[in-house]
Amino acid sequence: MTNMNSGKLTLHKEAGQADSVRELDVVIVGAGFAGLYMLHRLRLSRRTAIVIDRGSDVGGTWYWNRYPGARCDVESYQYSYGFSPDLDQEWTWTERFAPQTEILSYAQHVADRFDLRRDILFDRTVESAVFDEADDAWVVTTHQGEVFRARYCIMATGNLSDVKLPDIDGIGNFAGESYHTGAWPHHAVDFAGKRVGVIGTGSSGIQCIPEVARQAEHLTVFQRTANYSVPACNRVLADEEIAAIKADYPNMRALVHRTRTGTILPRSRGPLGNFDTAEVEREFEARWDGKKGGGSSFIAAFDDLLTSLESNAPAAEFVRGKIASIVNDPQVAEDLTPQDYPLGAKRLVCDTGYFDTYNRPNVTLVNLRRTPITRVDADGIETGDVFHSLDALIYATGYDAGTGALNRIDIRGVGGRSLRDKWREGPKCYLGLMVAGFPNLFIITGPGSPSVLSNVLPSIEFHVEWIDRCLSDLEGRRIEATEAAEEDWAEHVRQCAEQTIMTKADNWYLGANIPGKPRVFFAYAGGVPSYEKKCNEVARDGYQGFRILEKEACA
Ligand code: NAP
Repeated sequence: MTNMNSGKLTLHKEAGQADSVRELDVVIVGAGFAGLYMLHRLRLSRRTAIVIDRGSDVGGTWYWNRYPGARCDVESYQYSYGFSPDLDQEWTWTERFAPQTEILSYAQHVADRFDLRRDILFDRTVESAVFDEADDAWVVTTHQGEVFRARYCIMATGNLSDVKLPDIDGIGNFAGESYHTGAWPHHAVDFAGKRVGVIGTGSSGIQCIPEVARQAEHLTVFQRTANYSVPACNRVLADEEIAAIKADYPNMRALVHRTRTGTILPRSRGPLGNFDTAEVEREFEARWDGKKGGGSSFIAAFDDLLTSLESNAPAAEFVRGKIASIVNDPQVAEDLTPQDYPLGAKRLVCDTGYFDTYNRPNVTLVNLRRTPITRVDADGIETGDVFHSLDALIYATGYDAGTGALNRIDIRGVGGRSLRDKWREGPKCYLGLMVAGFPNLFIITGPGSPSVLSNVLPSIEFHVEWIDRCLSDLEGRRIEATEAAEEDWAEHVRQCAEQTIMTKADNWYLGANIPGKPRVFFAYAGGVPSYEKKCNEVARDGYQGFRILEKEACA
């Protein structure tokens, strides 16, 4: 274990540089769940570290996503840290799927309980991170002019944090209130008596549409692609359930790492082809109505729903049938029905009363595929020959996923090469942890790791603990992924994705939602156990696929 420097402010003025450079062992970017736990672990390993975040508080995605209806689609008790048995016992989740407010409170509680805030700098936007080859250190600068210098830099920037506005001509002309679900204001937003438009029907849109419909005078939903959605079956947890959850924490924490998605769901029945139609229907029905899980347990009903188009088809058809039976107006039902891609090829959405919302008299669905937007002006949006007058517009249009938050920072590695440039053809990142040419730079849940295809809390914990162990093993030396290991891993990630049906839609896993973004499936689809086994073997065998250099050998 090394404690490489004192962490105090040192004056280091050079021409054109800031007045002071703060020297540390590690700089962490992002104060979401990844950054918080990384800081905690580094402190336990007696390293000096600072976390920098553009928000005014901890929580990352849960700090920004304050839109009405925002809640997790993984069960609360599983979507939480497993590193502290005491924390497990003292924190009580009140609902099966926690609302954003409760998850944010949990992050704040963790920050306070482990005294993390004193090493977090809020309201700072990291502008650049540049590797200083001569000194084998990262120089991180903020928009506010501060400079930090650290042997290691850890990006805890999240996969879904770079919000995307729609590429619709004239959208800037709209003069009413505008909101993005991923950058929701911190003051109360009241839609009462207002005509509101929502663009986008992914998870964010589908969660907020029922809530906004209840408040607004009128809600118009502008839908480009109809989405599969299943009832979340959320409910308040009874006292006995809470007691059972708390008693089972040690077992559950170990078990999640042995599941493919890092999530414990009702057991899958095996390949769908083993069952007759009636049994298949019964299984889907039980998962749809919550008798057997509800929410994303639907997609785990049979083993091969995400790997076989043939097995996927009855699942898709089941949801189509549900939409037809819930939505009163047949044309609206048809417009809401996904037709041209398999279920789960876009992330399956878990909702509360979404399809029922279209039976309300104050809700209109506009199918942009039938009637595209022809004009946007100060007062609203025209589609075909209908003008939709709006007081407020909500963009639920998603994110530049996986790489967006990293590419927002000017990251420069060996020879001044920028990460944006290196990833021009799509991200390559060995084990989703490190990029060749960018020594000593770690990415938590980076591209090439299970990240968004897993329960991200255990995935974060796994990465944090791997990095912490790696830093201890390094004792200050330089580490870098080799080009060969990175290439092999990228190919493996590609092959794993190809074995699923998730490459069969224009989704954000492939970057298809960002015009001009190369189509590269960025997450590791081979499952959590095989991924973690590989990372552990790599570390155990002396960091295979990485080059480790003494400091003197680096320059
Ligand atoms: P998203 O899934 O990317 O959905 C964006 C929506 O906006 C899509 O319906 C998309 O249509 C539409 N859109 C984008 N550009 C458009 C344009 N120019 N014109 C018209 N429509 C446009 O984004 P998201 O809903 O924010 O969800 C992203 C991910 O965040 C989720 O998949 C999930 O992983 C995570 N999330 C999770 C939760 C939860 O845990 N419950 C909640 C929210 C988000 P197309 O489909 O045609 O592109």
